[in-house]
Amino acid sequence: MSCSAPLVDAFNRRISYLRLSVTDRCDLRCAYCMPEKMQFLPRKEVLSLEELHKLALAFIDRGITKIRLTGGEPLVRRDVIELIRALGRKLGEGLAELTLTTNGTRLADFADDLAAAGVKRINVSLDTMDAALFQKLSRRDRLSQVLQGIAAAREAGLEVKLNTVALKALNEAEIPALVEWAHAHGHALTLIEVMPLGEVEGERVDHYLPLPAVREALEKRWTLTESDHRSGGPARYVDVAETGGRIGFITPLTNNFCASCNRIRVTATGQLYACLGGAEKVDLRAALRSETPDANLAVALDEAMRIKPEKHHFRIGRGLEPAQPRHMSLTGG
Ligand code: SAM
Ligand code: SF4
Repeated sequence: MSCSAPLVDAFNRRISYLRLSVTDRCDLRCAYCMPEKMQFLPRKEVLSLEELHKLALAFIDRGITKIRLTGGEPLVRRDVIELIRALGRKLGEGLAELTLTTNGTRLADFADDLAAAGVKRINVSLDTMDAALFQKLSRRDRLSQVLQGIAAAREAGLEVKLNTVALKALNEAEIPALVEWAHAHGHALTLIEVMPLGEVEGERVDHYLPLPAVREALEKRWTLTESDHRSGGPARYVDVAETGGRIGFITPLTNNFCASCNRIRVTATGQLYACLGGAEKVDLRAALRSETPDANLAVALDEAMRIKPEKHHFRIGRGLEPAQPRHMSLTGG
């Protein structure tokens, strides 16, 4: 039960959703996300599992009801399942939902434990079902593990939603097949526009695919009807009559969705970023490691509410700097 003041920002948005990155490390190197030779953080800078737990409890106390663990790849963090079990015990005690976003490579090992810890739904990133393209996009040959992971999650009773970054001239032609496969296996699929976060090799703009054009193409193939389904996030959904499934669209570049933002992000080093696309942050690690962590955390969270910006300022174009120098894998996608 929440006993402290809820988190409400300067634009009167009630913040109830925390995306908590448990590591910046990853076993894939998706080309739009990070360079092949990504420099990961020294381990001592990263919060311990105990610190992550303490932080999560402080957020729950301030009215956070949904926590999504992310990264980097959350399932490569050693003993992460201990944190998940500990947070699972808060379900029904202030926390309404505990979930995670994963690339799926290690899901086959974890699916049963996640379900036992109280996780009901997860997001799995899947940009292609073509093994060669998977290897090209992620620079690793892991498609079969990911598909096994998705199957294991389903068998464990987890609801699996797929996330697909739409990439011009890469997975563009495959999107209808991905949607068909997802819906045939009972998964909703959300398409995401590539965002300018952190330097990568090559120009993201070369593969930036605006989703309104994708939607138009899908409309020629299927009957799409606007859905009033909401996941509490920026996605907008349509139902597909022919497949009986749902497609989400996350359009940070073509359509600004910030007015209803209910979320904040914390990196694995305890930096709270008030907006994915902004530089506004407060250092929760300093608060946690101070002499009076509880009091300093309370002050830091109030400060975060004060500085949360009204909206992001993403732009994408040739030669433009990334909107933020930090990678999605650091902020926690
Ligand atoms: N490793 C996990 C995964 O891939 O699901 C969790 C972290 S990953 C950063 C979270 C999501 O961010 C993934 O769906 C990924 O495709 C997406 N992502 C990463 N970099 C992105 C970018 N520059 N633009 C848009 N989406 C991005
Ligand atoms: Fe890793 Fe996820 Fe980034 Fe891919 S998108 S490199 S899986 S953190």
